[in-house]
Amino acid sequence: MMFDTAFLDVPPLQAVTGTVRLPGSKSISNRVLLLAALCEMAGDEPTQIHDLLDSDDTRVMIAALAQLKENSNATKKLFLGNAGTAMRPLTAALALRGGQVGGYELSGVPRMHERPIGDLVDALRLLGCDIQYLGNEGFPPLKIGEPKLKLDAPIQVRGDVSSQFLTALLLALPLVAMQDIHVDVVGELISKPYIDITIKLLARFGVTVQQQGWSRFTIPAGSKYTSPKEIYVEADASSASYFVALGGLAAMADKPLQILGVGADSIQGDIKFIEAAAQMGVQVKSEANSLTVWRAEWSKATGFLKAIDLDCNHIPDAAMTLAVMALYADGTTTLRNIASWRVKETDRIAAMAIELRKLGATIEEGADFIRITPPASHTGWRFASIHTYDDHRMAMCASLAAFNPAGVPVRIEDPKCVAKTFPDYFEALFSVAQTDAKNIPVICIDGPTASGKGTLASLVAKQLGYHYLDSGALYRLVGFAAKQAGASLDDEAAVATIASQILVDFDGDRVSLDGIDVSDDIRSEASGMLASKVSAYPSVREALFNLQLDFRRLPGLVADGRDMGTVIFPEAPLKVFLTASAATRADRRYKQLISKGISANIEGLRADLEARDARDQSRSAAPLVAAKDALQLDNSNLTIEGSVTQVLEWWNKLSGGDAPSQL
Ligand code: C5P
Repeated sequence: MMFDTAFLDVPPLQAVTGTVRLPGSKSISNRVLLLAALCEMAGDEPTQIHDLLDSDDTRVMIAALAQLKENSNATKKLFLGNAGTAMRPLTAALALRGGQVGGYELSGVPRMHERPIGDLVDALRLLGCDIQYLGNEGFPPLKIGEPKLKLDAPIQVRGDVSSQFLTALLLALPLVAMQDIHVDVVGELISKPYIDITIKLLARFGVTVQQQGWSRFTIPAGSKYTSPKEIYVEADASSASYFVALGGLAAMADKPLQILGVGADSIQGDIKFIEAAAQMGVQVKSEANSLTVWRAEWSKATGFLKAIDLDCNHIPDAAMTLAVMALYADGTTTLRNIASWRVKETDRIAAMAIELRKLGATIEEGADFIRITPPASHTGWRFASIHTYDDHRMAMCASLAAFNPAGVPVRIEDPKCVAKTFPDYFEALFSVAQTDAKNIPVICIDGPTASGKGTLASLVAKQLGYHYLDSGALYRLVGFAAKQAGASLDDEAAVATIASQILVDFDGDRVSLDGIDVSDDIRSEASGMLASKVSAYPSVREALFNLQLDFRRLPGLVADGRDMGTVIFPEAPLKVFLTASAATRADRRYKQLISKGISANIEGLRADLEARDARDQSRSAAPLVAAKDALQLDNSNLTIEGSVTQVLEWWNKLSGGDAPSQL
């Protein structure tokens, strides 16, 4: 599952425990993909890549490499999304290699066309490459033609805008290393650890770069890529930063959090983030390929992390996580030397400043620094809808604000943008985060038979990224299981025993009982009648009580039935009582059955559902009545979309504006 929703409300979180396995590193994945492809183009055998990250950026790279393999005499047009790790090295490799009649065109999403590439293009032009700008001077999209190589003079490349320019050259130059090729870095090289990754991976693919400090790099004459045959991608150290931070934010965790896939042996510079996190108050135990994190005793005692003043040049991506940790600090934190933030997926300094202010922090920003003063501990935090700028790291960072001491939820817009590097980020977060059940929002939708509750509830759940409980299905399952077991439906004790033992699994709209898919069996009219009968037994309802409570999981639940708002989740912030006239409901059910090829009689259906309503309303145990605080919705004359819109509007009013802390 991925949160493919307009926004995701992360409820207030309190603790973390358990284990997360991180996805592969984006930087390593895309470098390895390119290197493996370059080996193949040079006639070497294919490379088996293990633990490759599956994300937007790696897909972009894989698609581009597949396109490059195709034989064609036309211009090759490569679309590279917003993947800097594809745009820069492919530009260098294709410009140096040439070999395509009609040349290449490299483009991306609009933001990619705002991310500078001029310094790389200038360096490549000095080498004799033919590169034209198709849009704005200095930015993609680019047109690449056939090079007339001149490799004698040392190549000069600026190192102070993005280290990806140097990485791109280092990855591409072995393709043409007929002689020693020297690359001189002009200006102070930023993000050095990423250059380290590049050099280490080049070595795995048979090319040893000679290095004079951080100012001159030499590709020796005769360098040639050779496939390592097999290579493992380590997990993303920047992705680890969110979970390392969690170790320090979650005051109540009694068992430390374990992070698998990256550790002391990492070749990624961002692993150094753990040193900064430790200064702030996270205890980290590093093993070769895993980290265990918890909150330092002194930080537990004070209730605050420690404010820091840090040069973050060596951990540009992970440093964003420090900016959010700073919200929990005992004073003002300054993160310096982060100019590269301004040319990433978005202007991250500006974005971070705007969004952290919304949460209640005081922010000062400069060309290459950000200074964060936290909100006043309990009273200063505000509910905020965090804009994420199509930047995965903004979304992941924002989720950390959900540990705020004021207990306000955090709304994250466009949560699926995490797909760039960590498609299952929120699932991973919710699998280790803990909170009081009362913090997990529940929307109840109760109402009579065939009022459209199921359709409405599951659509609302989908829109909000919440779990969905179809409680009627549980009673249907009990009736069905009792019948199958040959139990008499008049024997309350026997039916209750069955109810207490059923093993149910919901998967989308499929339901299975003891591992067998019974979705169609329990949807029949006959099963509905059986359900109505067994549901009148108090001991059956009792047996299903805890099972229903268990559906209340992060990030939230939409539950439909008869007594969701009155008995199961009486404190739910939004309760809807959904009705429609008997004629409308009979008509809908009739059309539903006919469309499935089941013959039906509309008068009979209406009589049945009125009988079922009467039984559900008149029984003594949890009768069908609207909760006192339920909002009434008669959908006789509403479309499904109309009903969904109405419920979401009510919900938005509650969660986004008026009373966020009540969620
Ligand atoms: O909603 P559905 O038609 O699937 O429910 C089948 C029957 O289960 C209802 O007629 C009602 O008797 C019972 N039920 C209940 N309490 C719920 C949900 C369903 O008693 N929360």
